[in-house]
Amino acid sequence: MDKLKIPELVCPAGSLPGLRAAIDGGADCVYLGLKNDTNARAFPGLGFDERQLADGVQYAHRAGRKVLMAINTYAHGDDLVRWTKAIDTAATLAADAIIVADPALMAYAKRVHPDLRLHLSVQGSVTSYEGINFLQREFGIQRAVLPRVLSVEQIENVLNNTTVEIEVFGFGSLCVMVEGRCALSAHASGEAPNLDGVCSPARHVHWDEREAKDGTWLDARLGTVLVDSYRSGEPAGYPTICKGRFDVDGKRYYALEEPTSLNVMEILPTLARMGVAAIKIEGRQRGPAYAASVTQVWRSALDALAKHGNTATVDEASLKTLGALSEGQTDTLGPYSRPWK
Ligand code: SF4
Repeated sequence: MDKLKIPELVCPAGSLPGLRAAIDGGADCVYLGLKNDTNARAFPGLGFDERQLADGVQYAHRAGRKVLMAINTYAHGDDLVRWTKAIDTAATLAADAIIVADPALMAYAKRVHPDLRLHLSVQGSVTSYEGINFLQREFGIQRAVLPRVLSVEQIENVLNNTTVEIEVFGFGSLCVMVEGRCALSAHASGEAPNLDGVCSPARHVHWDEREAKDGTWLDARLGTVLVDSYRSGEPAGYPTICKGRFDVDGKRYYALEEPTSLNVMEILPTLARMGVAAIKIEGRQRGPAYAASVTQVWRSALDALAKHGNTATVDEASLKTLGALSEGQTDTLGPYSRPWK
């Protein structure tokens, strides 16, 4: 019987301390971005300058791990230079791959840095093997990160029809639209992940206390859009439009998506058996403590899979740790499981 190929563990590094925490916790690869809008996590305080990137690459390489650099927003028509410069920086500082969505950047990288590995970003929104194979033919992409909208059967279909490595999300916040196509944040704030590297940017968030007949409420808005209202003392989440509660037909509920985290731990053996090359952990916006905890849990799960194969079990303590790190302290298999089909 063929030996089970264990997927690489790809962990988030929002900062240099976060990178060290992920590497020390057992990540095979970390992914990161510069401190600007060339990547989809352009939040204040996050990201790497060139000095930090050089230090981070050195730290990872000394441990025998890889650094994948996200340059996964779409270049602005009037300013391609910021993006091409980011690609040059990745090549100069010996990043192991760049994660890109924009075909213009793939073409640049292929032309100027032919030895640099290209990974298709989830922001590229490519969900079919035909699309992936096209980008392989045109630009030589070596890995594709699938958007979090495909079922296990659909992922298997992609795997069976491409030689491009496939990376899937394993844990973290859900982005319910096909990534790269969501305009909700842009609708409310004028800024969105695809062009500006931010969803629900903090400078457009407002919190307002309001007195009503039934007590005190805290209103959370993105721009002028009311995303949620919380009773006094109720835990309040960050106002992201897709995870807000809205009045629909006289009922107030999470009309688009519940605030919950994706967690594929229970189908990890299935994904490995199918030939998934890498499991990605979401959360560059979270701190080093998150990176350390989540990496350690997934490392031990993958090591157990390597040792015991399908009979590997996940211990209760690990599941509890992941539960505590999940949005709203709940998790889901999300699109991977579609029992109604
Ligand atoms: S609003 Fe929600 S679905 Fe849209 S990009 Fe942000 S997290 Fe993703």
